[in-house]
Amino acid sequence: MIPLVDLTAQYHSIKKEIDAAVLSTLESGHFILGPTVSKFEESIASYLGVKHAIGLASGTDALVIAMRALNIGAGDEVIIPAYTFFATAGTVMSVGAKPVFVDVDPQSYQIDVSRIKAVITPRTKAIIPVHLYGHPSEMDPILEIAREHNLKVIEDNAQAFGAEYKGKKTGSLGEIGCLSFFPTKNLGAFGDGGGVVTDDDALAERMRMLRTHGWKKKYYSEEVGYNSRLDAMQAAILQAKLPHIDAWNDRRRELSHRYTEKLISSGLVTPVEREWGRHVYHLYIVRSSKRVELQSFLKDRGIASEVYYPLPPHLAVPCRHFGYKEGDFPHAEKAANETFALPLYPELTESQQDEVVAGVMEMTG
Ligand SMILES: *Cc1c(COP(=O)(O)O)cnc(C)c1O
Repeated sequence: MIPLVDLTAQYHSIKKEIDAAVLSTLESGHFILGPTVSKFEESIASYLGVKHAIGLASGTDALVIAMRALNIGAGDEVIIPAYTFFATAGTVMSVGAKPVFVDVDPQSYQIDVSRIKAVITPRTKAIIPVHLYGHPSEMDPILEIAREHNLKVIEDNAQAFGAEYKGKKTGSLGEIGCLSFFPTKNLGAFGDGGGVVTDDDALAERMRMLRTHGWKKKYYSEEVGYNSRLDAMQAAILQAKLPHIDAWNDRRRELSHRYTEKLISSGLVTPVEREWGRHVYHLYIVRSSKRVELQSFLKDRGIASEVYYPLPPHLAVPCRHFGYKEGDFPHAEKAANETFALPLYPELTESQQDEVVAGVMEMTG
């Protein structure tokens, strides 16, 4: 059986460090925020090359708190890619704003920057590029359009921790970068976790307030906030994992390149890497018009695969009232119908990978 991801394999590879981190948190008696979380926030800020990092309860909360800090709410529009995890669209709606979708580049699956200007209106407040699958979005044109139209850029970096755009870490390029430490993400906790990063002192202060009930001073709320804090246990675990992230991402890249080489004659469309960035392969995504048959063929051989995502957000139930319909974003819809992920995680062995390749080739070759 070859799983899509194997979280226990990673735990066992650094068990001593993780166990020590967990036990020292138990002994510390400090479980919400505190010195362990502060230390981790400093480590994240320094890794990403930004001034401030703020640990939160999830990547979803990171998006909400980023938009709240930028005063995005009712009556505002936010431009997002038409192909992403639903949270990108859902959080725009949960702050009261309207998601405005832009189709994706059918090869990189990133927001198609040539289509952004056409959807800007006087209500547009921000653009949220999503570095989907770990591939960096094309940031320079996005930042340029934002500057011209006085829009904010919030990066959804949930899938791309450690990725780079022209030598700079993704998440550090817009006003705010949003992180997720969901267990399967490239830097994953043993539970939910997330964070925001920014170079802006005032935004950082506002986001720190928002994560704890809008408090500047304890119990004195200045606005309605949230309870959205990274807990010390997760911070300790993530701190132990952080020194390994570059090696893990390198290994994801190495295995992905190996897949791409070996699948060259499979007929599957394999991932691209644009010249502007370093792809960190959160997922290894292939495309086939025979997805259903291929997935069931692999399943019969004990090989997992998974669709990310079967439904583009504009066709999801909560978006119905916006009046979007099938055919509005053909590249996103086609990706939803044809793409799927093959097993990939840093601890995947080459012989396991060869089994996956053999399975695919048996059906397609
Ligand atoms: C995982 C993910 C999120 C949400 O992160 P959670 O920590 O699960 O709340 C947001 N956007 C994208 C693109 C994601 O992949």
